[in-house]
Amino acid sequence: MGEGPAKQYREVGGRPMLLWSVTAALACPAIDRVVVVVPAQDEDYVRGLLPEQQRIRLAHGGAMRTDSVRSGLTALADLDPAAVLIHDAARPGLTPEVILELLAALEGADAAAPALTLTDAVKELGEDGRLRTVPRDNLRRIQTPQAFRTETLIRAFEQAAEAAVDDLALVEAALGPDRARIALTPGRAELMKITHAEDLAIAERLLSPPPFRIGEGFDVHAFGEGDFVTLCGVAIPHSRGLKGHSDADAGWHALTDAILGAAALGDIGDHFPPSDPTWKGASSLIFLTHAVKLVQKMGMAVVNADITLMCERPKIAPHREAMRIATAEALGAPLSCVSVKATTTEKLGFLGREEGIAASAAVLLGPAPI
Ligand code: MG
Repeated sequence: MGEGPAKQYREVGGRPMLLWSVTAALACPAIDRVVVVVPAQDEDYVRGLLPEQQRIRLAHGGAMRTDSVRSGLTALADLDPAAVLIHDAARPGLTPEVILELLAALEGADAAAPALTLTDAVKELGEDGRLRTVPRDNLRRIQTPQAFRTETLIRAFEQAAEAAVDDLALVEAALGPDRARIALTPGRAELMKITHAEDLAIAERLLSPPPFRIGEGFDVHAFGEGDFVTLCGVAIPHSRGLKGHSDADAGWHALTDAILGAAALGDIGDHFPPSDPTWKGASSLIFLTHAVKLVQKMGMAVVNADITLMCERPKIAPHREAMRIATAEALGAPLSCVSVKATTTEKLGFLGREEGIAASAAVLLGPAPI
């Protein structure tokens, strides 16, 4: 893995690799306890990483893999569990479904493990330097977690003579390969083991959320006293004004909500409560800028925005370009990525009766440009 912290503490998809498996196990209703086996000197560090302590126990690892698993089993002894799953923290793609599949397969078996078939051709390199083709149809790549009936596993460990490649091997040795009933469940690409530095980049792509997020927003303000309305940052002369929160810019309120929605950060009212007099008459640029900054903190940026203003009057068309320019500037986005459209509602409803103005907005967030 090269320089840096031990691989189980390296971040994948924004959190330490170890936490992916612990969190997935705790999220599975069939799991009562999780034992995290760690080097003794890492105990305090790992305790600090863990999401909760109640259902987690820590045990100290040993020199060999078998010693570490034995230590984990000992830490569970007082609970006398019916089944135990042994998992490698270097496989962060664990899900509760994987665990449930294994436990279902364990009914009527001594052990169960996820397995993948091979798609590449397999060759054996002989001592003589020659390649020989190995039939691959009966070969399987075994992943973890591996699930065991506890009594089977304890017996296997009692009889374990030497270090094994995995825990299934101990069961095969203890029961005899012909007698051990080992069930296989479907393996998954996401359960890949992180061994080399380049595996991290693959896991990152498999486990990270997609880099794009969409959001939509909607807002309405009623007409009231006044001689202009503010829409998308532009003051437009009109026979009436708009009532409400701040400068009542329905266009930018819808846009702010769309951005917050894409980021899953609540809505404009959460960030700027209407009850707070601070925001009375305030420019909606404050709200929009706040949302943009929150998005930047996530390492994202607005890719494009599309706003629709709904009213009979004032006419929007003469002001559309000014609105696009003001909005693009506020977002820090190219003008070509900002659209402002307008529609009437054919004189229907409260908009048709000219009681107010509505706006809707859609945005796409993507990775911030480098
Ligand atoms: Mg509003």
